[in-house]
Amino acid sequence: MLDLAIIGGGPAGLTAGLYATRGGLKDVSMFEKGMPGGQITSSSEIENYPGVASVMSGMDLMESWPEQAMRFGMKHSMEEVSRVSKRADGVFEIFLLGDKKIEAKSVIVCTGSTPRSSGIKGEDEFFGKGVSTCATCDGFFYKNKEVAVLGGGDTALEEALYLANICSKVYLIHRRDEFRASPVTVDKIRNNDKIELILNSVVDEIYGDVSGVNGVKISDKTGNKRDLKVPGIFVFVGMNVNNEVLMQENGKPLCDLSENGNVVVDLKMKTSVPGLFAAGDLRIDASKQVVCAAGDGATAGIQALEYVNN
Ligand code: FAD
Ligand code: NAP
Repeated sequence: MLDLAIIGGGPAGLTAGLYATRGGLKDVSMFEKGMPGGQITSSSEIENYPGVASVMSGMDLMESWPEQAMRFGMKHSMEEVSRVSKRADGVFEIFLLGDKKIEAKSVIVCTGSTPRSSGIKGEDEFFGKGVSTCATCDGFFYKNKEVAVLGGGDTALEEALYLANICSKVYLIHRRDEFRASPVTVDKIRNNDKIELILNSVVDEIYGDVSGVNGVKISDKTGNKRDLKVPGIFVFVGMNVNNEVLMQENGKPLCDLSENGNVVVDLKMKTSVPGLFAAGDLRIDASKQVVCAAGDGATAGIQALEYVNN
């Protein structure tokens, strides 16, 4: 039986493994369905990880993380987890795709969240080359330039306000004339001179060339068309929380989730189920940054160690 099973090998999972094994846990396995590193490996540039002064790709930043964790004994299993359950005797069961089952004394879930895609033509082609889902990460690359933001929820409006501090102009494109975002945020948007609202409109196409995005073509409900010559578009059409592994056969989650599907944790990354921890983007109130996910992972690793030892 494993001392600890870690599900997801992004910044949170890898850091959890490092802290748990270095702290003395012997049988620790990290289950990652793809290559370790997490969603940051899809980013061409990261420049806000503390202590790393040079700008580098997400792939380069994450390259040494698995090696460091495995040096202290963490095992990496390239498997997709389909479900985590807890038996009446307190043992966790980790079900892998293909009918395999692993037992563990404790579990840290670090499966992250996935920005929802809009399905617009050009979105996939130019992702990371002008199409972004992270203003904190990529906004600075558009300093004093015009950008477009898509969406009408809290994320889109808050990120548009963030971008308006950096960019010369922000076009906020939303498919309706009413926002899903909270009224106080909508007021701030309406009172910001740098933000132009383009309502009742959809993006038909994101276009560009080998160097990246050159513009977006939009049309409104009456059929009027417009071509915005912007080098970047930020797509915020909602997030999918990767919480599927917590769903039980009866359709209920193993632990408490928020209304949005994020895992409810306390400051020690403890969920409502003893021995089950959650860390990184999938937890409530996550700041959705690499350094924050790593910090969560460290906390969860230390707590799992304490849980197993006691
Ligand atoms: P993730 O990184 O999402 O990792 C979760 C892992 O779990 C994934 O590897 C996934 O394959 C795995 N997984 C999911 N389900 C299963 C399953 N069932 N079984 C097995 N494995 C599973 N942050 C910054 O700080 N600075 C930046 O500049 C920055 N830029 C970004 C640019 C882009 C394009 C994106 C998308 C994000 C960016 N971020 C940035 C945000 C940062 O990447 C995330 O906050 C961080 O990666 C969250 O880490 P995590 O470990 O919680 O989850
Ligand atoms: P969201 O609330 O689901 O909003 C997504 C927005 O994208 C909606 O305006 C939606 O339009 C639009 N949209 C969806 N699919 C689209 C498509 N294919 N093309 C164009 N537009 C599309 O998502 P979110 O903003 O990421 O927020 C998620 C949750 O987190 C929400 O509950 C939110 O309140 C919360 N949140 C809270 C805060 C805060 O409290 N400060 C901050 C951020 C997020 P429609 O409106 O027409 O459906």
